[in-house]
Amino acid sequence: MKNYLEFYRNMPKKICTECGCEIEEQHESYLYECERCIGKHER
Ligand SMILES: [Zn+2]
Repeated sequence: MKNYLEFYRNMPKKICTECGCEIEEQHESYLYECERCIGKHER
């Protein structure tokens, strides 16, 4: 899966839409908030 890794390397860093901090973890690509802000929503 080399292409897969290169794809993520070339991706710009995601920034949380809530607090503006950089999102380091690349789990599901549809997430645009950091874990902290996501945790807030799930309360
Ligand atoms: Zn955030």
